[in-house]
Amino acid sequence: AAKDNGRHTFSVFLPESARLIKERLQLRQEVFSALERRQFVLFYQPQISAANGAVVGAEALLRWDHPRLGVIAPGAFLSMLEDTPAITAVGAWVCEEACRQAREWELLGYQLQMAVNVSPRQLTDENLPLLLKNLVAHYGLDTRCIKLEVTESMLTQDIGKAATVLRSLEDEGFRIALDDFGTGYSNLSYLRQFPITTIKIDRSFVEQIDEDQRCLDIVIGVIAFAKSLKLAVICEGIETEAQASAIRSTECDVLQGYLIGKPMRAGEFQALLLAQRSTPQQADPGCGQAG
Ligand code: C2E
Ligand code: MG
Ligand code: MG
Ligand code: MG
Repeated sequence: AAKDNGRHTFSVFLPESARLIKERLQLRQEVFSALERRQFVLFYQPQISAANGAVVGAEALLRWDHPRLGVIAPGAFLSMLEDTPAITAVGAWVCEEACRQAREWELLGYQLQMAVNVSPRQLTDENLPLLLKNLVAHYGLDTRCIKLEVTESMLTQDIGKAATVLRSLEDEGFRIALDDFGTGYSNLSYLRQFPITTIKIDRSFVEQIDEDQRCLDIVIGVIAFAKSLKLAVICEGIETEAQASAIRSTECDVLQGYLIGKPMRAGEFQALLLAQRSTPQQADPGCGQAG
């Protein structure tokens, strides 16, 4: 019976994993033509002011609108592109699409801060500042409205090049956020070496903030430290009212998470903006002021 069982388990397991492997190989083949097939799309997640709840920003998050499989999150395909030249083209497309959308919303009367995630390869690409400079000029945007999100691990890879790229972005007036803060070594010297303007406290801290006093104390401490360096602070991954109210008790500037809004298509995000317009006490502070 044990033998039968083993064989049974084996025969169930193999086709399933074979199917997954096949699916992954197929995705890998398809992902390189997804850009020219116009299958990539940006979703936008709202960021609100802790002070008054107004939507002050959007984080652009890449999605693959797959004809067979539906919407695919970057965790399933980004790494396939990461070490290939294709990531440069996809990254450039993300920058352009985010700028185009920021302009569209600006023309509707919403000057948002548009956050764009940068890949390690983009961060060491000396053409990135010029690409972005040309885009904001083309779309008539204020450079302060575009914020590049980088992670600590990206900064450690090629420190010299990354610093050069970030400094020229800073010279142009772009904002730079340190994403997932607290998950790496949180080597504080990076905050001195690189022109960071914002830190995004990772959702692993936010997760238990309402239950674990130490989590709250850490967040309060990190924020105090960030403020002393005149950095703006965003807390990401807020999923519950209890987490939101714990974070509102701190000096955090901007809130982001499923509670406030999941990443959504541009049309849905726009509906959110328009709904806000009918709430008079929530003035639009513009991108110069928060986060
Ligand atoms: P990230 O920049 O740290 O983005 C936050 C991720 O957390 C997003 O996942 C978002 O959907 C998710 N998230 C937001 N709020 C909550 C919440 O309340 N709870 C939970 N559980 N999750 C939340 P997503 O969209 O799957 O993106 C994953 C990562 O992929 C991003 O992490 C970013 O590093 C990368 N990424 C996304 N778009 C791009 C892009 O256009 N270019 C590059 N290079 N990387 C991107
Ligand atoms: Mg991010
Ligand atoms: Mg993050
Ligand atoms: Mg991340």
